[in-house]
Amino acid sequence: MYQVRVVCFSELNTVLGLLQNTYSNARVCRRDVCYRGEPDLERLMAESRDPAELLWGWQEWRRAVGPPSRHLYPVVVGLMNQAARNNDYRDIGECWREELETPNLEHVVEELYRQVEPLYTLLHAVVRFRLAQFYGEETVPLTGPIPAHLLGNMWAQNWEALLDLLLPDQKMMNLTSALHARNYTTVDMVRHAEDFYTSLGLERMTHSFWTHSQIERPADNNGTCHGTAANMYQSGDYRMLLCAEVNAEDFYVIHHEMGHVEYYMAYRNQPTVFQEGANSAFQEAVGDSVMYGVVAPQHLQRLGLINDTSQDNDLVLLLRQALFKLPQLPFGLLVDKWRWSVFRGDTPPEQYNIDWWELKRHYQGIVPPIPRADDDFDPAAKFHIPDNTPYIRYFLSDILQVQMFKGMCEAAVLGRVGTGEALPMPLHRCDIYGSKQAGKRLRGMMSMGSSQPWGKALQILTGNSYYDVKPLLQYYEPIYRWLQAQIQRYNIPVGWE
Ligand SMILES: [Zn+2]
Repeated sequence: MYQVRVVCFSELNTVLGLLQNTYSNARVCRRDVCYRGEPDLERLMAESRDPAELLWGWQEWRRAVGPPSRHLYPVVVGLMNQAARNNDYRDIGECWREELETPNLEHVVEELYRQVEPLYTLLHAVVRFRLAQFYGEETVPLTGPIPAHLLGNMWAQNWEALLDLLLPDQKMMNLTSALHARNYTTVDMVRHAEDFYTSLGLERMTHSFWTHSQIERPADNNGTCHGTAANMYQSGDYRMLLCAEVNAEDFYVIHHEMGHVEYYMAYRNQPTVFQEGANSAFQEAVGDSVMYGVVAPQHLQRLGLINDTSQDNDLVLLLRQALFKLPQLPFGLLVDKWRWSVFRGDTPPEQYNIDWWELKRHYQGIVPPIPRADDDFDPAAKFHIPDNTPYIRYFLSDILQVQMFKGMCEAAVLGRVGTGEALPMPLHRCDIYGSKQAGKRLRGMMSMGSSQPWGKALQILTGNSYYDVKPLLQYYEPIYRWLQAQIQRYNIPVGWE
């Protein structure tokens, strides 16, 4: 969801439509079984530990979407730039950045990343060490970047699937199996999400939501399955579009999309022009901030998904969360760094793939597992490139959502926010379920829509009015210490060339 503040012409829509269809219609077949990107190949990348199979999925998905998109993308860029220039922007990247209302955004995001980079680098080191043990050092060199197909995710942006490799001696807490063991259905997952939001005093989902939402993939549906929340701008008509399965990832996606719906409902009484998030990063952050509350050990126990809330289990839960969230940071930064450079003309079409991998290597410490050819166009393998959705909002959201969670925690526990007063528990053990104080702050922020500058909205919830990585570093502080201890204990090399 985003608004283009430029003249929209039909030609652009036509080319974008072709690009989007290339992504959503792409299929990869093997021995008569065909896979879609989302969720089929996504699942394969998370579940398989066979390097040949992982390479197959990684490579074939890129082969299916990259080359057919490669000639379309420069056309899209040209048309968008033309529209932007007609509206006095230098290029469409400048126009996209403006929506976030953050002066010097390019510098601001670099600076924010600089502060979380040491944590990511430690995680990268320990993950690489365990991957090298598992796959062998000839496949995963101990001091270099990691081959992109081994990280449990098509885009190497979520490493949650590697949790068991990192804790070889630990009895594993697996949220997906716990959901199955408790006989959860996809609708139960939605109901539990609704219950969390309403426990904070936020609104229930509407009748329309329950009648019009698509939770699971319909039998006749072959189209896109990327999770979406829709505001139909008619009384009570909010919808969720998903192809959910019973697993931890979709349990998260449901909370994320419901965050959008709660936001739509909270600002519905604003004049139409202010019926938006404070900025797009806020819109993305709400559901995730609530999810931080859902994965608190006490709440998972309340849901019957874990029965052990001891400190040992804390490490498992927190490391799972770190593997899920931290790799998103460099990835979330580089997607639009690449596009800004493309839009500016600094990255011409013949450099598209080369510059993409340059950024992947620099920020994520990741390299392609096989040489890339001239007609490869790997950025197209990620939904948001063919869908043409700006991405830096997700990077900012990953930082904001912990600020928001901390704000809700302070409201719940201390009754005040942003005072600097210490919490009586580590941030990851803060149980906000049922706190009307937390919900009141969240609703206060959301109900403003975009009627005030985003700093004011943030202030209501957190007491602070700017992006701040300190809550994120505070949340993952036990992981930082654990990673350092691992590095010392096994003498693990850190960093990559
Ligand atoms: Zn979203």
